[in-house]
Amino acid sequence: MSSPDTAPGTVPDISPGTPPGTPFGIDDLPVRDELRGKSPYGAPQLDVPVRLNTNENPYPLPEPLVERITERVREAARRLNRYPDRDAVELRTELAAYLTKTGGHAVGVENVWAANGSNEVIQQLLQTFGGPGRTAIGFEPSYSMHGLIARGTGTGWISGPRGEDFTIDRAAAVAAIAEHAPDVVFVTTPNNPTGTAVPAGTVLALYEAAQAARSATGGAMVVVDEAYVEFSHGESLLPLIEGRPRLVVSRTMSKAFGAAGLRLGYLAAHPAVVDAVQLVRLPYHLSAVTQATALAALEHTDTLLGYVEQLKTERDRLVAGLRALGFEVTESDANFVQFGRFDGAAGSHEAWRRILDRGVLVRDNGVPGWLRVTAGTPAENDAFLDAVRELRTPPAAATVPTPPKEQSA
Ligand code: PMP
Repeated sequence: MSSPDTAPGTVPDISPGTPPGTPFGIDDLPVRDELRGKSPYGAPQLDVPVRLNTNENPYPLPEPLVERITERVREAARRLNRYPDRDAVELRTELAAYLTKTGGHAVGVENVWAANGSNEVIQQLLQTFGGPGRTAIGFEPSYSMHGLIARGTGTGWISGPRGEDFTIDRAAAVAAIAEHAPDVVFVTTPNNPTGTAVPAGTVLALYEAAQAARSATGGAMVVVDEAYVEFSHGESLLPLIEGRPRLVVSRTMSKAFGAAGLRLGYLAAHPAVVDAVQLVRLPYHLSAVTQATALAALEHTDTLLGYVEQLKTERDRLVAGLRALGFEVTESDANFVQFGRFDGAAGSHEAWRRILDRGVLVRDNGVPGWLRVTAGTPAENDAFLDAVRELRTPPAAATVPTPPKEQSA
């Protein structure tokens, strides 16, 4: 029952001595110190005709695959009274077969672990190998969730260096690892938001440096985030896990498989790593519906990888089109392209707004002077190129509100 001075539906004031009606917000809660003042992940989900801001695959799943998902999910539904296979053995076996076929290195079910998106894979890795009193390093600008998940797991975050051209300078990165001796090293290749790939030699140098820096405490984990690797001109770094038990390759079905809504990420590593992450995974974390859907998608791998080829061609067309218009473009091995340069943070934000005025949503990742566009369908990419062509004309009046500064997705 409501007290006499509390209108139904309002939150009663629970702090003794605080006048009724005093606003109550996140800062009034006993939130952990490392989360105070931080922003949640939040790429704008605006309802505009062309959305090229979150590196999704623009192609809906083909109808025969939708049918197959329906069949598999119907079967799974008949057993929903039971918990799902806790170890997702069938799914991990199929993911291992996919990696073996496409990644240049044979792996088995014992090398593979799956979770709800590679974000959850990363979270499980940090829960296992990071945590209070430990640190993780990433070379920024890079995928902002590495740092955010580090904070969420109580892991200290170190922002490592990247060169002017957005590549990782091997000597500078090795020096940063030697200085900070992190417990976990993130290498994103191809990198988000820059699109740049990291050569195997650099990853090997970072791996050696990380092991040397933490030799007294059993070494360090190196996580190679290959969320976009299917779009790369080069090969996967999967073969590097051989003989390196502290190297983990993380993957996702959100991009190449066109299944961002599915939430399925996975890793490949030494079997000891797969054993270790099971210490922190929630029991039955991967629902029967998720497992059934992912298995159906894996049956259609060849068709889905055909879309990837089209997207690679479109990505290269975006690069050429932007360059022809006089923009600078960072070399891209991903399904997106970083382009500029605009006049600092204000310039890129203004350009972002003017492109949005033309009905095209791209990403302002907070890298001053640069924006990122995801490769869409040919028609979407044409709309984007038309919009940026107009950036060469004098600015029109603002028609959309300015969103808060955001991080890379
Ligand atoms: N890693 C990188 C580099 C990413 O850009 C993303 C998504 N934007 C992820 C991981 C997470 O993807 P998901 O959780 O959808 O697998």
